[in-house]
Amino acid sequence: MKFDVVVIGAGGGGYPGAFRLAKSGFNVLMADPKGELGGNCLYNGCVPSKTIREEAQLILRTKNILKREIPVDFQRLQDHKDYVQETRFKQHKRELSEYKTITFYKGIIKIKDPTHVIVKTEDKEFEAETKYMIIATGSEPFKPSFPGSEYCITSDDLYNYKTPLRKLPQDMVIIGGGYIAIEVASVFNILGVKTHLLVRGDRVLRGFEDEIVNILLPILKLDITYNAPVLEVKKIKEDEFEVIYSGKDGAKKSMRTNLVLLATGRKPVLPEGVYNIGLAIDKKGYIVVDEAMRTNLPNVFATGDVNGKAPYFHAAVRMSMAAAYNIMANGVPVDYVDYKSIPVTIYSIPSASYVGIMSSQAKKMGIDVIEATYNMEDEVMAQIYDEKEGMLKLIFERGSLRLIGAWMVGVHSQYLINELGQAVLHGLTAKQLASFADQHPSSNEIIAYAARKVL
Ligand code: ADP
Repeated sequence: MKFDVVVIGAGGGGYPGAFRLAKSGFNVLMADPKGELGGNCLYNGCVPSKTIREEAQLILRTKNILKREIPVDFQRLQDHKDYVQETRFKQHKRELSEYKTITFYKGIIKIKDPTHVIVKTEDKEFEAETKYMIIATGSEPFKPSFPGSEYCITSDDLYNYKTPLRKLPQDMVIIGGGYIAIEVASVFNILGVKTHLLVRGDRVLRGFEDEIVNILLPILKLDITYNAPVLEVKKIKEDEFEVIYSGKDGAKKSMRTNLVLLATGRKPVLPEGVYNIGLAIDKKGYIVVDEAMRTNLPNVFATGDVNGKAPYFHAAVRMSMAAAYNIMANGVPVDYVDYKSIPVTIYSIPSASYVGIMSSQAKKMGIDVIEATYNMEDEVMAQIYDEKEGMLKLIFERGSLRLIGAWMVGVHSQYLINELGQAVLHGLTAKQLASFADQHPSSNEIIAYAARKVL
């Protein structure tokens, strides 16, 4: 079997590029052991977790605005989550059927050499030849090993399609302090679970601007224990665990809980054979790529979480498209990904988002900035929902007044950050942002309001 392109993995880094290549007549082989398109994002990541989040948001708003307590039926919430996943699986099947030159297998792909792969499905194994290869095998939760770590679940177990986890624990210990840990703690608190975060170091949300963290944390009011590395988890009985951790003074401390969630980062998933072909892989196991998604092998591209550049579905999609365009140009780059303009959101309730260069980074880079802020207290949707906490900050380069970065904590930050990302990507100025007549009432209005402050 001969193909133009083999796409390994059908997540955000895989199928969008496969579709684009097929649209231009390329013969594409794509495989994924899930037998579905959408990758981990749809199977156990962003889509199911955001479904549960929206449900929690509804419960919270009903309580705050309509003054009604909704009894939380987690089975029902998980059923809806499964329904959303099924809806999207079906949609992707329909989309896939529209591309006649994509051959999709439920199975895994092993790499034999840069132009040959082995496809392994449930009932057969065969070799295929290809001109180009896109490795888009994603990532999976990193599980540190300590005694009893096997009793801990990960976010995959919470959100897997048809997960058996359909009863809420009373109490949950979350190990970790990254954005997944914060999101789960915030959302499950609202669902009535008492959550506790055990954080190894002295801060959460490493890599996020201090200002964002300092505004978000007091709003979320999470129970966080810092400098508390977990030493052991003991199973006391079904649904009861003891988490033993080291206190600040080195003394052993412990907590009893009903569920322990590991949210200790993610690691790349690499296809078998990848180490035999001379591909550059960094110390953490990520495939080294440039902005055009090229690896050190001229016909091999690597997109999405597997290259560690920006581990988010939307980033993977953008990378997948870039790889497709560059393959269509015979491997001579015509499209480059601007990682700085990829937005990032912490999907807590409320959410927090950022894009571009933050003020502290700008300072280090020697860029002089002018900032403009807007308080969520005065934002109309925040008033309608009575969720008025948070702030928007726009960061402009002094002189050009070009928007180089922005962040927001508060209602709808995950939506506004897209518009702000467009502005950062295309170098829009305060004047351009200020001259737009935003729809009223909408949260987006505050972008123009803030921009007008510097003019
Ligand atoms: P990304 O967003 O970077 O595309 P995901 O983790 O969402 O990452 O998706 C990667 C997909 O790749 C997953 O659905 C996974 O099942 C699939 N995958 C992993 N290893 C292989 C392999 N060897 N062959 C085919 N598919 C694979």
